[in-house]
Amino acid sequence: MDYQANLAQVTHRIRQAEQRFDRLQGSVQLLAVSKTKPIEAINALAKLGQNAFGENYLQESLDKIGQRPDLEWHFIGPIQSNKTKPIAEHFNWVHSVDRLKIAQRLSAQRPTELPPLNILLQVNISQEETKSGFSPQQLLDQVEQIQQLPNLTLRGLMAIPKAETEFDQQRVALAQMHSLFNQLKSVLNTTNFDTLSMGMSGDLEAAIAEGSTLVRIGTDLFGARDYAV
Ligand SMILES: *Cc1c(COP(=O)(O)O)cnc(C)c1O
Repeated sequence: MDYQANLAQVTHRIRQAEQRFDRLQGSVQLLAVSKTKPIEAINALAKLGQNAFGENYLQESLDKIGQRPDLEWHFIGPIQSNKTKPIAEHFNWVHSVDRLKIAQRLSAQRPTELPPLNILLQVNISQEETKSGFSPQQLLDQVEQIQQLPNLTLRGLMAIPKAETEFDQQRVALAQMHSLFNQLKSVLNTTNFDTLSMGMSGDLEAAIAEGSTLVRIGTDLFGARDYAV
């Protein structure tokens, strides 16, 4: 695997999309999604300057964090409420906060000697039965309560829209996220609410067109995942 070429290409796509859609150069951050990939792959990208990594599976991620506590770790997978403690203790960011109860538990379990845990609220923007996340209305009702939790910093929103292959189709749900993000930003009136996590290998450009500040890329950096191992 040529990690250097993959990283250069993904970075190039991000910078090109920033330019094409009148986004500030360097305003979109890259999260390398390393789920199912070995520590050697993470070490290789870290050596090339990639600092932020996203993980979905708790046990696997704790092993990796133990080996590289110097990197910035983002939890992006589904969260069971009985698994919040290790997440609160070991991660820098959580993107997949999908209900009030999870936010409350993460705040209660965040060690107070650590900085507040950065959280994003996951929105089920395509309203799919199989996906978790707040509805836009739930967010409007609950966001201020979440913002007040003491050991968290509410940084923004995350979405995994329904997969679409056409650019214009991809933009529809992403545009809804963009306007919801701006609406909440004005309600909350804080500079901390600055992160819109959307865009994966297949819809990176559309996400940047619609205001993403952080794209989560796995396949195009690490190659296809093999879930059989
Ligand atoms: C796996 C995953 C990604 C990365 O997807 P790719 O298509 O491999 O780039 C991004 N976000 C979440 C939440 C994921 O689970």
